[in-house]
Amino acid sequence: MRRHLSWPLFIALAAATCSHGEDASYSKRAPILNRLTATIGAQSPVRWQSRDHTPAPVPVAAVGDPRYTARLSGGIRNIDIAAVMKQALSDGVSVILVIGDGFGESHRKILATMRPTGTGRVGSHFERIANTGARGVCDTRSAGGITTDSAAAATALACGVTTANGVIGRALSGARCDSALALARRRGMATGLITDTRVTDATPAAFFAHVANRRQESAIAAQLVDGDTPDIILGGGACYFIPRTMAVRSHPALNGRSVGADLKSRRDDDRDLVTEMAARGYRVVTNTEILISAARGSNRILGLFAGHTMNTTIDRDDENTGEPGIDLMARTALSVLARNPKGFFLMIECGQLDLVSHMNDTGAVVGALREMDDVLRVCLDHARANSARTLLIATGDHETGAPVIDPQIAGMRAPALSLDAIARQRRSLRRIVIDARSTDELRTRIDTETAFRINLEEAKIIWGQ
Ligand SMILES: [Zn+2]
Repeated sequence: MRRHLSWPLFIALAAATCSHGEDASYSKRAPILNRLTATIGAQSPVRWQSRDHTPAPVPVAAVGDPRYTARLSGGIRNIDIAAVMKQALSDGVSVILVIGDGFGESHRKILATMRPTGTGRVGSHFERIANTGARGVCDTRSAGGITTDSAAAATALACGVTTANGVIGRALSGARCDSALALARRRGMATGLITDTRVTDATPAAFFAHVANRRQESAIAAQLVDGDTPDIILGGGACYFIPRTMAVRSHPALNGRSVGADLKSRRDDDRDLVTEMAARGYRVVTNTEILISAARGSNRILGLFAGHTMNTTIDRDDENTGEPGIDLMARTALSVLARNPKGFFLMIECGQLDLVSHMNDTGAVVGALREMDDVLRVCLDHARANSARTLLIATGDHETGAPVIDPQIAGMRAPALSLDAIARQRRSLRRIVIDARSTDELRTRIDTETAFRINLEEAKIIWGQ
């Protein structure tokens, strides 16, 4: 039987590696993970050059009317994507935006290597979109620097405004920005936001919130209810929706079975946003089964599948709580949003890709890339079936980690692992490190749950003995 990780430690680990949170207790285990990835990196054909965001441009792919896609080919800026989406929405065309958080050219190449095009092979869906529509390269810089964070990047993608790192939905002047989602709402179109992190995290937040600092997630959750509330909201982050002092599992509408249900509220007031949303006609759902059944009869759904951040792809639903994949969330949301005759706007964030790239966890990155590509397949199928009225755009908000496939490493080191072997990793390194209670357990779990191998001496050094 699998031992579950300590949830607060998991959050700290997820947060502290990406300036996406504030808990300092991760510092005890972060060096272990860093030494582990450095050690097993020698066995991998993927070499990581950074543990942070880089200024490298990100790829763009789009299918739809050439009036829009032509403006997304070649060298563009991230604010151009918002301008094109707003034009399409103003013309009554539905827009699907898929954002791979941290998805750079390097990640695109790994995905293309994993899913090559060729005889009898479809290839990656990102390449299919780029090859049949438009292919661009997008500059992601924010105000005052060439390396952006997800807040400034998402504000650029959502609103077409270049702002400072950490800022959500506000210009440098402090003025509130108008997002593509807000425009779609004003036009009577249906709207949706999907993420596998938290619905209050920077990327989805930029489409509805206006705050000076992305860490104001309590305020962001309130603005989700008070402002430009999308019809479909799916992701993690339940702790920001319940009254302070309450635990997620104690809320009657959250059924006590989600990932991180023991987590206490992180609201700074007594508002019960879950109940407020239910009173406004939203179906509140917490697992895949209820989500699918709610989508049949309801046009407004708030899905909160985790107390805090959802699990990364290869750890998804490890707690057997019915935690959905992003592709399922996308398919379900599209079935609801497409009912609106005026069209819709949908943003889908593959956010875990960034977190596992920060950790240089190649196996988890490959899993997240495969999931992103599965999401793109769902969206491409929809776009093709509704080609006259749909614009599909896939891109990254910035690049994270700068991984490169280095054939020399594969050739010079033994055993040389293939990407296919690494892709069979069953658990994220983050989870393995948090769950391990001894050097021997660390060694055993690396041995049984990943393609990598470490010996006991290496395990002791990694553990810090
Ligand atoms: Zn990041």
